[in-house]
Amino acid sequence: MAVSREQCLELDQRDPLAPRRREFALPAGVIYLDGNSLGPLPVSTSTRVREVIDSEWGRGLIGSWNSAGWIDLSRRVGAGIAKLIGAQDDEVICADSTSINLYKALGTALRMQHARPRVGFDHRRVVLTERGNFPADLYVAQSITETFAGDYQLAAVAAEEIEYHIDESTSVLLLTHVNYRTGRMHDLANLTRRAQFAGALTVWDLAHSAGAVPVDLNAAGADFAVGCGYKYLNGGPGAPAFIYVAQRHLRAIAGDRFAQPLAGWFGHRAPFEFLADYRPAQSIDRFAVGTPSIIALAALECGVETVLAAGIGPLRAKSERQTQLFIDLVEAHCDGLGLQLASPRETAQRGSQVSFAHADAWPIMQALIARSVIGDYRNSSNNEPGLLRFGFAPLYVRFVDVWDAVQALRKVLVTRAWDQAQFHQLKAVT
Ligand SMILES: *Cc1c(COP(=O)(O)O)cnc(C)c1O
Repeated sequence: MAVSREQCLELDQRDPLAPRRREFALPAGVIYLDGNSLGPLPVSTSTRVREVIDSEWGRGLIGSWNSAGWIDLSRRVGAGIAKLIGAQDDEVICADSTSINLYKALGTALRMQHARPRVGFDHRRVVLTERGNFPADLYVAQSITETFAGDYQLAAVAAEEIEYHIDESTSVLLLTHVNYRTGRMHDLANLTRRAQFAGALTVWDLAHSAGAVPVDLNAAGADFAVGCGYKYLNGGPGAPAFIYVAQRHLRAIAGDRFAQPLAGWFGHRAPFEFLADYRPAQSIDRFAVGTPSIIALAALECGVETVLAAGIGPLRAKSERQTQLFIDLVEAHCDGLGLQLASPRETAQRGSQVSFAHADAWPIMQALIARSVIGDYRNSSNNEPGLLRFGFAPLYVRFVDVWDAVQALRKVLVTRAWDQAQFHQLKAVT
């Protein structure tokens, strides 16, 4: 039997992470279940960004590249993220967007495969991915396979079928660890092992994993990974993303070739020698392209610190309880109201979000947002019902929020409060 509101309040009282909520500038009365799309503002970020603007930029001017450590900031923030994803400090750098980092990672992986000594007739021509992968990942893969002038093809298959498609034709396995629509989580270690056994390289997109679920890239022997700074890492809208490259590959591709397809001066071995010839850095710095956004990196650093301070282990433990509680409560209180669970029932296969399908998902979510319960909506292909998406970021979501969100959902459904013209109007961002 599902718990009561009083029991949720008790869970909050006993929750060691509860004080962390004060680290965020959340508006009063809002239940924020969209940290999987845009993390909220950490209190420390406002102070830090003001300091970067007023003191470091305002007074320090260009000298701050040296005196305020701007030049090392991409690596410093990368080293913080490395701790959350089981990487070494020198395997991660913050730069660009997730889309651009995908381009760099996939492009490098394909070039590495291309440069391999071939035995006999080589069939390794496939970039394998999941059909339901995030569009950015699919578009980048389409673009890159086209750039290789028909040499490569993209195979996008159903999530459950991926492991059966890994074979000697697979060049790169490109997967998002936690699916953005369903929250379904792949077995990163197992799929990495299978891909590498077949001679393929792996590129993991950790957009919905970093800061939400424990990831151990080194233990899995993962090749490449990218991820997002503005979701569970609370880095702010459009925050810089990150890229991980396994140390063994950094050594192997340490030559003077253009292994990284977006060669730029910040990836040069000696940017301030202003040489005419590109000579890539012998480290993860090679995956930088141009001048980083210092204000955005400073904000991201504050966001990453909120996650590091809490620890990914305790965060995952609370997130598992909250997503389970949400499913239990919705099924107990909203039974027969047209909702269909679209996320895995098995906790271990679920990231930190829960999605429910409903024929009227869009106006229902708008009515919920009007009641200060903020989740989001994702459409479906093939005329299937759209999704109500709820993200649970245990740094600031309380157990009582889970309860109250379910009651608001129930009320919206029972009263059909969603069925008003104002809630049917589609917006540019869903
Ligand atoms: C959010 C997200 C992105 C975002 O890419 P941007 O370049 O930051 O727009 C990419 N991939 C996945 C899987 C995501 O969830």
